[in-house]
Amino acid sequence: PLVLGFETSCDETGVGAVRGETLLFDAIASSVDEHARFGGVVPEVASRAHLEAMVPTIERATREAGIRLDDVDAIAVTSGPGLAGALMVGVAAAKSLAVALGKPLYGVNHLASHVAVDIVEHGPLPEPTLAMLVSGGHSSLLLVPDVTHDIQSLGSTIDDAAGEAFDKVARVLGLPFPGGPHIDRVAREGDRVAIDFPRGLTTGRDMERYRFDFSFSGLKTAVSRWVQAKEAAGEPVPVADVAASFQEAVTDVLTRKAILACREHGVQNLQIGGGVAANSRLRAMAQERCDAAGITLRVPRPGLCTDNGAMVAALGAQMVLKGRTPSELDLPADSSMPVTLVQS
Ligand code: ATP
Ligand code: MG
Ligand code: FE
Repeated sequence: PLVLGFETSCDETGVGAVRGETLLFDAIASSVDEHARFGGVVPEVASRAHLEAMVPTIERATREAGIRLDDVDAIAVTSGPGLAGALMVGVAAAKSLAVALGKPLYGVNHLASHVAVDIVEHGPLPEPTLAMLVSGGHSSLLLVPDVTHDIQSLGSTIDDAAGEAFDKVARVLGLPFPGGPHIDRVAREGDRVAIDFPRGLTTGRDMERYRFDFSFSGLKTAVSRWVQAKEAAGEPVPVADVAASFQEAVTDVLTRKAILACREHGVQNLQIGGGVAANSRLRAMAQERCDAAGITLRVPRPGLCTDNGAMVAALGAQMVLKGRTPSELDLPADSSMPVTLVQS
């Protein structure tokens, strides 16, 4: 099936075209530069930018993919979670197009799409797959028997998301928003064992109670205290070492718990998705540790880890292939859609 996917849950207007399990084209317009001076995404600015970018992005995706709208078999759209006003723009556009073309509509979960996008990169997902979703708003370990209707959460962050921690630490270090890619870049010049930052929820009773949960807010506080102490002493802050040591702490915890979850649930396949999966150190460490544990690792190319339309089209195509019932044409945007609900 030929499926168009629309993504507008945050600051990226994405339209992707997928045929079966093949990515045809992925068009993205981002309003990230408009938010940068505020140090975070401004919902009203994002909604307006989606309104302006939606139609041109659909036109660009279909033109570059070489497809006619009449040939499309289904439309998929992110129906949640995300910013309410931003989601509504994509959902309204998808409904209109589905009605105009007389084609089925699938309102799908943004987080499940971060997992499903791996299918257009590496082929069908093994069932079950253990998925680690690490993004700007979420950090979860998911047991995924079937990405089109059965996702179970084994654990998630009890405070900040991994991406949020990257963004906050970047701000402490005076790096631009969003900070993840900047920390990744700066850390290459740094010493990752320079500073021993805390690994939250990895020892003793925490490891029993919060086995597959994460906590990054203590780490963020530890980094900012460390930097403040340097500044108070009038010493230069070794930005690269701090970035590298912080990144090491995050990736150490993520990969340790992901592999433990694979072991304890008897799953041989780990998939990592979401914006933080673009991180070079996380990718390298996950590969080393999976190799050592005999686990097959799948991580899509960095451009498919951050938000895009292809991920939505990829999940939409799976919905069609697996014979799932389309969504109602009056489907609502659900800003707090739980990770375990694949479709609305
Ligand atoms: P969610 O998917 O939870 O709704 P989101 O869609 O806003 O949140 P994504 O686009 O999936 O988030 O990911 C964005 C996050 O990924 C940001 O926090 C960003 O800093 C982080 N990120 C992007 N690239 C990298 C990188 N190379 N290293 C670390 N973090 C990164
Ligand atoms: Mg973004
Ligand atoms: Fe996302």
